[in-house]
Amino acid sequence: MSAGDKKGNVGFVGLGVMGREMARNLVVAGYTVRAFDVVPAAVEVMSGTGIIPASTLAEVTADADIVVTMLPDTPHVAEVVRGAGGLLAFPPKGRLLVDMSTISPEATRVLSQELAQAGIAMLDAPVSGGPIGAKDATLSIMVGGDEDAFLRAKPVLEGMGTTINHVGVSGAGQTVKLCNQLICGINLQAICEALALGRACGVDLNQMREVLMGGSANSWMLEKLGSAMIDGDAAAGFRIDLMLKDLRLVLETAQHQSVPLPGTSLVTSQYIDARAHGEGSNGNQALFRVYDRMSGQRVQDGASR
Ligand code: NAD
Repeated sequence: MSAGDKKGNVGFVGLGVMGREMARNLVVAGYTVRAFDVVPAAVEVMSGTGIIPASTLAEVTADADIVVTMLPDTPHVAEVVRGAGGLLAFPPKGRLLVDMSTISPEATRVLSQELAQAGIAMLDAPVSGGPIGAKDATLSIMVGGDEDAFLRAKPVLEGMGTTINHVGVSGAGQTVKLCNQLICGINLQAICEALALGRACGVDLNQMREVLMGGSANSWMLEKLGSAMIDGDAAAGFRIDLMLKDLRLVLETAQHQSVPLPGTSLVTSQYIDARAHGEGSNGNQALFRVYDRMSGQRVQDGASR
């Protein structure tokens, strides 16, 4: 890290729901953070947080010991690497990219090789924990890439998360994250089915959830999203659109590896159904409304979709 800086310079790219909280936590952790987003308003709202606004990507990378990206999908990360103002054209001083977005493991390996040829190391470090984990700096971070690069990045990652695991070579972090998403999606589907059946049988769903949380059916999804599903509160949380993106990455990876995933395929169709009924910006708990419709119930919130 740079002499003169308390901890060093981080260039942060992507100030969305997650990135803005993570960048802010790096300032709190003592880093000098320059940040860029293609949407100027996303940078402007960070004034007063200690983050230094940048109007170009090159401005962020110039003095960066580490560049962190937190972007929607594979093409956005590829643009930051290969684009006209990107990392290959303007290598960061510290020659290290930590991509914390959820993107394709296969594309990650290709980008990592291209960067390596230019003397830049790349780690894939996707996260679990959502906006609350991002805000509280309690994210779980799964890292793929070289051990040396991991050890360099670890203090920066510790500014954003509490569970940090190096899980293998380039792409391994993304693979573990996709397995995480596969489990979350199918688990949520199982909860939807239990709630639909319990409701049809006239059981008190709040009591049923409490009972299930005390036994072997308990899960993070049941604890965190169960109440919102029962109450018909669809708005907040991890968006249906983002989960669909992750499930697409899971199925692309499975096809690449010739691994059949029938459970993931089925739940993906149900997420597509949710999006087709206008739920794309709602939280994952809105998957229950697919079951509302299938069982002839009016959707919750009184809004018939
Ligand atoms: P978001 O859409 O809210 O934010 C992404 C930001 O990237 C936007 O501000 C966008 O303007 C910016 N951007 C896009 N292309 C850019 C480019 N070329 N250069 C600079 N900025 C660019 O997304 P998010 O919810 O913050 O999620 C980011 C990533 O984290 C995704 O891959 C997502 O799957 C993953 N993730 C999200 C959550 C969640 O709960 N939201 C949880 C875990 C992981």
